[in-house]
Amino acid sequence: MKQNGTLSNIQPTDFLGIEEMGDDHAFSSIDTPLRKDAYAIEDETKMELIEKHFRHIMEIMGLDMTDDSLKGTPKRVAKMFIKEVFSGLDPKNKPSVTLFDNKYKYDQMLVEKDIAVFSNCEHHFVPIYGKAHVAYISSGKVIGLSKLNRIVEYYSKRPQVQERLTVQIASELKIALKTEDVAVVIDAQHMCVQSRGIRDSGSSTVTAFYGGKFEEEATRKEFLSYLGM
Ligand SMILES: [Zn+2]
Repeated sequence: MKQNGTLSNIQPTDFLGIEEMGDDHAFSSIDTPLRKDAYAIEDETKMELIEKHFRHIMEIMGLDMTDDSLKGTPKRVAKMFIKEVFSGLDPKNKPSVTLFDNKYKYDQMLVEKDIAVFSNCEHHFVPIYGKAHVAYISSGKVIGLSKLNRIVEYYSKRPQVQERLTVQIASELKIALKTEDVAVVIDAQHMCVQSRGIRDSGSSTVTAFYGGKFEEEATRKEFLSYLGM
């Protein structure tokens, strides 16, 4: 996907195959590539190991690790990785979703827009941040609104590429809501593009997934009209 992609030239199928992005970004699968033994060691052990190795990285860079300001950093980074910014790697942190009967017989689309996205690029380990907009048409069940935000948050808290994040959220919404009729648009800024490399601070990347009824032009247009896109 190109930077500054527009919705009109992005198709759901764009996310299904191997695709080259600029700046050596490429991806191949909806699943986050994880080792088979990803959960073999406890969080506490993971944090101890990351702390040790991160201290080593800082030492290699020549930093004085006895300095008051620096000495707590390895432990802080380790805790942040496991408990916060990459906590979505562990399924035990996946939000549980409760469905309710659609008592009001509301059969139109529901749009939750401007959900904050804070993720990290898996190629550079620097932030991706922006907004996600999700929508679904009820198949007879409805979901608590905050759960939509939680699903976006869970998949964002992994080393990511924006395309995979988009498809993972859509896939989870389909399963949780028991419908194919879901849509996800993410509009985000990539610090790896803005602060290094080509240093394009004005660009943002838009990705989209449209399933079921959202593949129909009228439904898609209605959704995008709510987003002002
Ligand atoms: Zn990157």
